[in-house]
Amino acid sequence: MPSDLVIVYHRQPYEEVEVNGKIEYRENKSPNGIVPTLKSFFGRFDKGAWIAWKHAEDPANPEFERVIEIDDAYGKYTVSRLPLTPEQVTSFYHVSSKEAFWPILHGFKERYNYDPVDWPTFREVNWAFAEAAAAEAASGAVVWIHDYNLWLVPGYLRKLRPDVKISFFHHTPFPSADIFNVLPWRKEILESLLACDVVGFHIPRYVNNFVSAARSLLEVDTLKREKVKPELAAESSALSEQSVVTEIGYEDRTIRLQASPVGVDVSYIEEVAAREETTRKVEAIKSELGEAKLLLSVGRTDYTKGGIEQLESFERLLEARPDLRGKVRLMHVSVAANSNMTAYEEIQQTLEQLAGRINGRYGSFEWQPVALISRPVKFTDLVAYYRAADVAWITPLADGMNLVCKEFCAARTDLDGVLVLSEFAGAAVELAAAVPTNPFSHKSMDGAIQFALDMEAEDRKGRMKANRAMVVKQDIRFWAEDQMQAFGAGVLPALVSP
Ligand code: UDP
Repeated sequence: MPSDLVIVYHRQPYEEVEVNGKIEYRENKSPNGIVPTLKSFFGRFDKGAWIAWKHAEDPANPEFERVIEIDDAYGKYTVSRLPLTPEQVTSFYHVSSKEAFWPILHGFKERYNYDPVDWPTFREVNWAFAEAAAAEAASGAVVWIHDYNLWLVPGYLRKLRPDVKISFFHHTPFPSADIFNVLPWRKEILESLLACDVVGFHIPRYVNNFVSAARSLLEVDTLKREKVKPELAAESSALSEQSVVTEIGYEDRTIRLQASPVGVDVSYIEEVAAREETTRKVEAIKSELGEAKLLLSVGRTDYTKGGIEQLESFERLLEARPDLRGKVRLMHVSVAANSNMTAYEEIQQTLEQLAGRINGRYGSFEWQPVALISRPVKFTDLVAYYRAADVAWITPLADGMNLVCKEFCAARTDLDGVLVLSEFAGAAVELAAAVPTNPFSHKSMDGAIQFALDMEAEDRKGRMKANRAMVVKQDIRFWAEDQMQAFGAGVLPALVSP
């Protein structure tokens, strides 16, 4: 049976585990709730399909089940898995994405590496996704494609199935024309995106950047521009815009553009935060800290996350404020990448050197100023650290949204804790009550962290209350509703709670 909703997302909605020689499909619960939220859309449609890729050890293996049927709380849907060879995965997923697109999307031109990109393989894999989506879609279905590694799918799909509605959501930033146009395949990518009915981004700046890139290469008309909603225009953010383009025309088509910041699953985070087990962990963390305040930083080891700049600022803090020695600890979670890219290995080494130097210069047997954690921390444990932290210090140089800062606010039902947030995180356009910081400026970084540490309880409470209100309002379900309306499907039944 063909599907009314086809979700094209590189991750599978289930984790495959082998139990006694049999494959079982288990819930793939991401803390930010994206996967369950996407699945919850199936509840609104008669029949849904999901297209993902998986490693194919042996694509010729007749045992390989390409399409599996799922019948769960979210409804009935099928999952089509495209078997990709290790070479395809490396080329399409790791090389093109991480060496060429990722630096450009985040504005790091100097890190862009064209050499290893195998564009024919990128096209081939995107074509396979488009064919699979075309095979599953019912007449007039909504096909919802996610993220830049599937940039060419809309264009191919439009050719295969002119009847379907195509929506594309970017989970990263979108750079301005002068940076985007570094990509030699820029026109092909933009033409593909302009085959969509809806193109979605987190924040208005990315929408306007996309329009600037499209206008620089193609005859695109701005059909509609609107004032940005106050919820998305915090003055403290370097990424705020006054107005945003909401409709453009290209050839004979109208494309709707949408700024819709993804939120977190607040009720799930609150539930984890309220668990007795979490409270016990919080108490253990606090007793370990003694009198010291906890600064918490959580991210992946990536040049976009600004880990090096943050450790350098922490070193300057201890230098400038001897009174804080022994009185603060920084838990710096920077999950090491498992790709073999030199760029990531170099950052990892620098982080280790810096943490070692700070501990050596300022630490003692009783007190280690920095705990550098390179392994992933389980989300339920992370919530305990969110609750125990005095300051969440989140300072990416560029970040599409940044969910960690929203999770921190969601976990702080006690209305305490200070959020120091980079002006260059997408979330900064919403979280106007955070202490803003510019990670490219020593003065701003050093000033913000001292301001946060010295903040009075009343100020902390007022700010957390305002930030929490925003995180609660614009949670993952709010985002889901926004998407539904963009599909023109607002009349469908209420969303199933993930
Ligand atoms: N995360 C986690 N354990 C860790 C580090 C991160 O569970 O040790 C989770 C974190 O809670 C968040 C996600 O990973 O949900 C990171 O999302 P974010 O948008 O902040 O950054 P991204 O990695 O997507 O750039």
